[in-house]
Amino acid sequence: MMISVAEAEQIIREHRRDFGVEHLPFTAAAGRVLAEPVVADRDLPPYDRVAMDGIAIRYADYLAGCRQFGIAAVQAAGQPPPDQLAPNTCIEIMTGAALPPRADTVVPYEHLHIANGVANIAFEPVVQGKNIHRQGRDKRLGETVLAPGCLIGAAELSMLASVGHTQVAVRKLPRVAILSSGDELVEPAQTPSPYQIRRSNSYAIQAVLQGLGVPAELLHLPESLELTRRILEDCLPRFDVLLLSGGVSMGKFDVVPQALEDCGVRRLFHKVRQRPGKPFWLGVFGEKGVVFAFPGNPVSTFLCLHRYFVPWFKSSLHFPEQPVARAVLEKNIRFEPNLQYFVQVKLRRDEQTRLLASPFEGHGSGDFANLLDTQAFLELPAERSDFEAGEIFPVWPYSSLFTFHASL
Ligand code: AMP
Ligand code: MG
Repeated sequence: MMISVAEAEQIIREHRRDFGVEHLPFTAAAGRVLAEPVVADRDLPPYDRVAMDGIAIRYADYLAGCRQFGIAAVQAAGQPPPDQLAPNTCIEIMTGAALPPRADTVVPYEHLHIANGVANIAFEPVVQGKNIHRQGRDKRLGETVLAPGCLIGAAELSMLASVGHTQVAVRKLPRVAILSSGDELVEPAQTPSPYQIRRSNSYAIQAVLQGLGVPAELLHLPESLELTRRILEDCLPRFDVLLLSGGVSMGKFDVVPQALEDCGVRRLFHKVRQRPGKPFWLGVFGEKGVVFAFPGNPVSTFLCLHRYFVPWFKSSLHFPEQPVARAVLEKNIRFEPNLQYFVQVKLRRDEQTRLLASPFEGHGSGDFANLLDTQAFLELPAERSDFEAGEIFPVWPYSSLFTFHASL
């Protein structure tokens, strides 16, 4: 029974999985999703922080006419401030130091002339309260600085470091295996016979997973029901997610669906009304196991991976939700079969930063060289046959120039 893309999407959404939470040293948490609120352990900044190298003065002295301040002390960042500031004197002070009591204004070196232990004001006017980053101005003690669900990148790591949150709760990653199927496939380092090809899908899938920060084990299934069953039985208890490619079509040796069902994987669907990727098979096992079995044509695998697996993964891992990207079709296009057509497109941005999609059809789902010349699939609805330049459709980028996850 063939289902629509929308139905497939709905079923996949209903089978989002929660893989739990783990604690990591914060330095290992880049690219992960935060699973707890993080609060400031002190005010930020924690004291009135001097924001320029120069002198700290009492503005009242300046207002009363003083333009020459005797330098009473020099204070580096990290040093305790002197507790006295006598009238008409100043503290020579460095960026990052705590403002001394009673000082209320910092005059930068650029506005001073210093000679013989006296700082002369060389630029008018001095403005009261200038060049001081006030205590608690950015965040207050106990205030949430990072909310659960945020993706940990450079700014978040810097905040974790600043508040001393060195062990961090993050969403746990699933254990993933990538399995190829097909007796014509050899390893990339091998020389294929004239009738064989090198295995490539597993590496494409692995690269996308790496962009998402997920390690995966690579395995291969021979085209024998018996052997495939045996390998799957070994895998099911060891992994949460299996990503298969090949062996799910109508061929005599396409044993993958049968083997999966024999091993207790419950089929949720087989075949989606789409091109490429029609024989896509999805199933579940155990408490939270999911099997994505993609058709082996490299472009089909690519489409199913980006259109179905990546959104499923991001939502299972509680990634911040992002709207599906949309692009403007640049040329008229006709596609008659009653299938949702994912046409490969060249993407570019116009002067208004709108995404423009120019169809580039290549030679069908076996033409994976075409993936190098294009950056995305534009999703054209199944019910229609004619699509006009200027219409806007959902777009599924795969080039790292346009994907979010690959640029982490
Ligand atoms: P299948 O889905 O097994 O019928 O495979 C469809 C086509 O994709 C065949 O031409 C296969 O040789 C090719 N194919 C299947 N798996 C891979 C793979 N891992 N790498 C490259 N090509 C593949
Ligand atoms: Mg095959």
